[in-house]
Amino acid sequence: MSNVFLIRLADLDQDSSLKIDHTVPSDFLKTFDNQLDFEGLVKLFGKAYLTDDHLIIKISAKASTKMDCSVCNGPAIKEISLEDHYITKPLAEIIDQVFDFSEELRQALLLETPPFLECEGGKCPQRSEIEKYSKKQASSKQNEEVYFPFENLDHQLNNEG
Ligand SMILES: [Zn+2]
Repeated sequence: MSNVFLIRLADLDQDSSLKIDHTVPSDFLKTFDNQLDFEGLVKLFGKAYLTDDHLIIKISAKASTKMDCSVCNGPAIKEISLEDHYITKPLAEIIDQVFDFSEELRQALLLETPPFLECEGGKCPQRSEIEKYSKKQASSKQNEEVYFPFENLDHQLNNEG
């Protein structure tokens, strides 16, 4: 299978652009720490063309990211889309006349990804429960004296046995 992320300068000249229209597995988006999980396919659409001294790639992409809901820890899925993102590369920096734009695309998609997600499109059904609970917690704390349960632990342990 040919790598859809490779742009060969030989396929381009000053007067024409190269169409990009692919659907690829989302594997290339995997982060090293696996904190982010993309699933399914990524759709890519755009074009590549040359200026006097740069390769320009104008790309749109759609991907689905899967995370744990920040409230209930259930699965939360969000579609990430990138619109008309430009990747520019000086021709002088392109080694062997082939440029792989997968890393630039990956970085651009990760930047579009929110740091946390809620399920049900941002309306986690458990959120109201948690809000009630945390309000109660906050108000009851103010009335309590600060108490350190392990303050005398050393003392107690030494006196045992
Ligand atoms: Zn949830």
